[in-house]
Amino acid sequence: MSAASTDKSTPYIPLVAAEESKAPQKGGADDGWSNEDEATATCFCGAVQLKFPTQGPGFVGAFLCHCVDCRKITASMFASNFTVLDTHLTHLRGRENLTSFSQSRTIASKNTMTNYFCSTCGTLMYRVSSGFPGQSILRVGTVDDFRLHETKLKPKVEQFTETRVGWLYPADGMEQIVKSWM
Ligand SMILES: [Zn+2]
Ligand SMILES: [Zn+2]
Repeated sequence: MSAASTDKSTPYIPLVAAEESKAPQKGGADDGWSNEDEATATCFCGAVQLKFPTQGPGFVGAFLCHCVDCRKITASMFASNFTVLDTHLTHLRGRENLTSFSQSRTIASKNTMTNYFCSTCGTLMYRVSSGFPGQSILRVGTVDDFRLHETKLKPKVEQFTETRVGWLYPADGMEQIVKSWM
C-alpha cells in the first residue's frame, strides 16, 4: 500500500504565512499546537503525534548529544533531545504505527536503547534507555511549534563532546560534558 498515493496533499505554505500562524506548516500534518504547559510533536508524514509537557514536573530537560549513535541515528552530526516522564507523555495518534529497534552494543553504559520510529516516514520520535525506566527522550526537531526550539526547548547541555564533529564549536552558554550519564 502506498501512503503517498492515498494521502490528501497538503498545500505548501510560504514562510510569510507560516510566521503568522501559531504552528507553522512542516511535513504532512497541520494540526500541531502549543499552550502554556504542553505542546505536540509530530512525525514528518503526520501519522504519529505526541503531546508532552514543556515545563516541570513532567519535563526533565533538553540537551544536544554528539555521540556516534546519535550521529548515525539522526543521519546528521548531532541530536537535539529532550527528556519527559512517561507519566506525562500522551500518544495522540499513531502509536500502532511506531516500529522499534533496540541495541546495547555501542552504548557506553551497556544499557539497551530502544528507538521508536514512524513506520511510514521513518522519523525517530523517541528513545528509551533501560537504565532510565519511566522516561522517554524526544526530539526537538519534531516539535510542531518551532518557537519552542528557541525558548523552553533550547538545550542547556551538550554531551559526548569528545565525538563532536571538528568544525562545530560549543554553543554559547551550554554546559559541556565530555561523555554522558546515559
Ligand atoms: Zn510519519
Ligand atoms: Zn547520543
